[in-house]
Amino acid sequence: MEQQIHERIVNTMKIETLLAQAGSRWEERTGAVSMPIYQTATFRHPGLGKSTGYDYSRTVNPTRQALEETMATLDNGSKAFAFSSGMAAIDCVLRLFKHGDKIAITEDPYGGTIRLLEKGYAHFGIKSVCIDTSDTDTVKQTMATGVKAIFIESPTNPLLKIADIRAIAAFGRDHGVLTIVDNTFCTPLLQKPLDLGADIVVYSASKYLSGHNDVVAGIIVVKSPEFAEQIGFFQNAAGAVLGPLDSWLVLRGLKTLPLRLSRQQENAMLIASWLKDQLRVRRVYYPGLENGPMHHLFGRQFRGFGAVISFEVDNAALIPEILERVKIFLYAESLGGLESLITFPAVQTHADIPVGTRERLGINDRLLRLSIGVEHVDDLIDDLAQALGGMAGKQGLK
Ligand code: PLP
Repeated sequence: MEQQIHERIVNTMKIETLLAQAGSRWEERTGAVSMPIYQTATFRHPGLGKSTGYDYSRTVNPTRQALEETMATLDNGSKAFAFSSGMAAIDCVLRLFKHGDKIAITEDPYGGTIRLLEKGYAHFGIKSVCIDTSDTDTVKQTMATGVKAIFIESPTNPLLKIADIRAIAAFGRDHGVLTIVDNTFCTPLLQKPLDLGADIVVYSASKYLSGHNDVVAGIIVVKSPEFAEQIGFFQNAAGAVLGPLDSWLVLRGLKTLPLRLSRQQENAMLIASWLKDQLRVRRVYYPGLENGPMHHLFGRQFRGFGAVISFEVDNAALIPEILERVKIFLYAESLGGLESLITFPAVQTHADIPVGTRERLGINDRLLRLSIGVEHVDDLIDDLAQALGGMAGKQGLK
């Protein structure tokens, strides 16, 4: 009865409440409000043929389980699985395919995903084709050519293009094509791909979900029990699971996700608006700025523009200067943490995409990506202003 009441409450709770209390009601015996870290590899059996439900931590560990149950609830999935990295999670999803299968994928996804497909899974006869997933007609045409799955990143990394997930997933359902979404940039707080019709959602939890640049982790959430069984099999069989301490770090990070993202998005909007008025900046990519073709999906598909901005300067020679001059932005690859980072995608995150493709897409030697943190926006703008060559920072914010 108590369990039923709690489930009813969970079903009506706002996502912010679910996040704040992630793992806080798990421990019955002591009532610990912070989920305990079960730093154990194995569990004592009560007797022959008996189990507490926990036998060995590769299979199930309570701390990882608390994280997985939280993620399944947040994304309205049947089950979630936590992995030792975002790439380990993506690798596990790709294990669902076999020799001869073809996967269509966003043409500017995280470089590691393309590397795994083209330099890894291609050897096992799994083919991939890169397409512009912000162009729904192109996606539908490709999906009708016998592909097994569409792998969407939305917004994309680093060009922040948006795909119409609902339209693509509906078409996929009718044509027997699986829809997989990398929701790393949005998190379930801003976008819930399974509710939009996708079959599988993956995350690099190293980014916004954990949010403190202190852990590498990945998550898969699946809609159907059938995929839950298959992914669960590979998670246990291959064993790239998230350890108890790292599971706890992600769980703790989740609690403050709404606070962090709200501040990060506020900062991002101000910085993107400032950047587009700068002389040396040729182009700014930020979904919140543009009146682009997918802007109408705001509010229907996602409820925030995220906090990643890319921008192109007018001369490649400026890039090393900017990277050396920044004093607050940290020159490092990753995103989604409290600290603002600046990344040079062409040589860091996207080096594995062939040069010609990169140039065509706009991931060129003049493009920088910013992950906006929670620092004071004035300091961030002043830092960019001096790094871009001493131009005056935005007025009136101090
Ligand atoms: N997906 C996206 C969108 C990413 O940005 C990244 C990493 O930057 C990954 C997946 C891979 O995640 P991880 O670094 O946790 O393996």
